[in-house]
Amino acid sequence: MGKATGFMEFEPRDRTYRPPEERVKHYNEFVIPLSEKQLSRQGARCMDCGIPYCHNGCPVNNIIPDWNDLVYRGKFREAIEVLHSTNNFPEFTGRICPAPCQESCTLNLEDQPVTIKTIECAVIDKAWEKGWVKPQLPEHKSGKKVAVIGAGPAGMAAAQQLARAGHDVTLFEKNAKIGGLLRYGIPDFKMEKHLIDRRQVQMEQEGVTVRTNTNIGVDVTTDELDKEFDAIVLAGGAEAPRDLPVPGRETNGVHFAMDFLVQQNRRVSGEDLSDVEEISAKDKNVVVIGGGDTGSDCVGTSFRQGAASVTQLEIMPQPPEKENKRLTWPDWPTKMRTSTSHEEGAQRDWSITTKNFIDANGSVTGMQTVRVDWQNDKNGSMQMVEVDGSADSLPADLVLLAMGFIHPTHEGLIDDLKVELDDRGNVKANTEDYQTSQPKVFAAGDIRRGQSLVVWAIREGRQCARAVDEFLMGSTELPR
Ligand SMILES: Cc1cc2nc3c(=O)[nH]c(=O)nc-3n(C[C@H](O)[C@H](O)[C@H](O)COP(=O)(O)OP(=O)(O)OC[C@H]3O[C@@H](n4cnc5c(N)ncnc54)[C@H](O)[C@@H]3O)c2cc1C
Ligand code: SF4
Repeated sequence: MGKATGFMEFEPRDRTYRPPEERVKHYNEFVIPLSEKQLSRQGARCMDCGIPYCHNGCPVNNIIPDWNDLVYRGKFREAIEVLHSTNNFPEFTGRICPAPCQESCTLNLEDQPVTIKTIECAVIDKAWEKGWVKPQLPEHKSGKKVAVIGAGPAGMAAAQQLARAGHDVTLFEKNAKIGGLLRYGIPDFKMEKHLIDRRQVQMEQEGVTVRTNTNIGVDVTTDELDKEFDAIVLAGGAEAPRDLPVPGRETNGVHFAMDFLVQQNRRVSGEDLSDVEEISAKDKNVVVIGGGDTGSDCVGTSFRQGAASVTQLEIMPQPPEKENKRLTWPDWPTKMRTSTSHEEGAQRDWSITTKNFIDANGSVTGMQTVRVDWQNDKNGSMQMVEVDGSADSLPADLVLLAMGFIHPTHEGLIDDLKVELDDRGNVKANTEDYQTSQPKVFAAGDIRRGQSLVVWAIREGRQCARAVDEFLMGSTELPR
């Protein structure tokens, strides 16, 4: 344990941010890290609990008390080894994870959790800076060939683990660059993309063959894949967006959030955009429909493009400012969460739904809305009821639909492989063996669990790799 009295001596302190008026002028990250002395004090606050709820709250089961202690003692090199033992890419989670570990921290009962995510990020950033992150080459090669389809965090984690186990891994990606939603969904101001590029270099040095611009099911058939590979991992994400089929949906200026975000991410990374129609928020009244991460990223991107105003609407009621810890801890609570993008000036509204979009000469100029109330029906399930007399309208020159994703796209890869789906339309596989209804085909990440988080994708990629290794070799030493 760090310092026995650390949690009483030191106030919690977290990373800060550059001011909104400065950071909206660019797309770079804007976090101001803590100094090494400050990090040591934050590590010292950890109580090394007998039951470390943080460890259980973390989907990759990071061994948090151990590296908190090592950081308190300034032993960053040992800390990265412990951190890498459970997480292939802590620089991703250290930036964009919502940090369920911190909600679970015992000190969060007093609203003063250990700043676990900040410590994690500092450990891996220092490890890269010092050159401690090296390729981990397998001791022997197995002679088995594995295809991993989709290079998001799930596919990257699976490919890296399988290569380290000695398999000959090809990571297929339909886009021009790897990273999945980390690359093309999440904006650079939350996570800069050179972080993905250097992991790609490491993975290639470990023996992973990366094949971008290759859409499996289109450029390479699943029959060809079946003949060439001993096992196949599906890690294609959940790409089918939820639509809003109200009158005026087809009007110019109403777009899926991902069309907007992908375009901006490609622009920042210098990709050629001649294949797409430009969507710009400049000087527009932007309305974002959907209150989650995707919506928040649309808000921050719109400000950076020079929007006149940005409003974010959510159909669910406004959550409470603060959770009732006695009911929620150590689980993830529903409460008001304000992102850095919201702080840049967004108007937010809850319990509101869209009736139709207003079309003037083919372009959207506004939308009609109505307030809703959520009431329990006889069976105890929540029903949405429109509030009489609450009809209203608001101006909108650009509407971004950010209402989540329903399941993976079925056309192409999934239909061709004829793998069984679950009742939500995701690829059916359990979390013991990750095997689909086709024995040599496995599935991990959003394609299996539905839209989720990067940290869950990493967990599933790692666990799926272990299952594939066991399937191919009869036993495995990869961690679960
Ligand atoms: C805008 C946005 C913001 C988000 N913000 C956060 C956040 O802040 N924190 C967080 O934890 N999570 C966030 N998420 C969720 C997170 O990004 C996903 O849960 C995570 O990326 C899922 O990982 P994955 O590897 O399963 O799938 P993906 O990241 O979706 O990757 C799947 C990859 O497979 C490729 N692919 C699909 N089909 C084929 C095919 N047939 N052939 C070849 N390649 C194929 C796709 O092109 C893609 O690159 C966000 C999501 C979005 C959309
Ligand atoms: S729950 Fe909090 S205080 Fe306890 S071990 Fe984990 S990080 Fe440390």
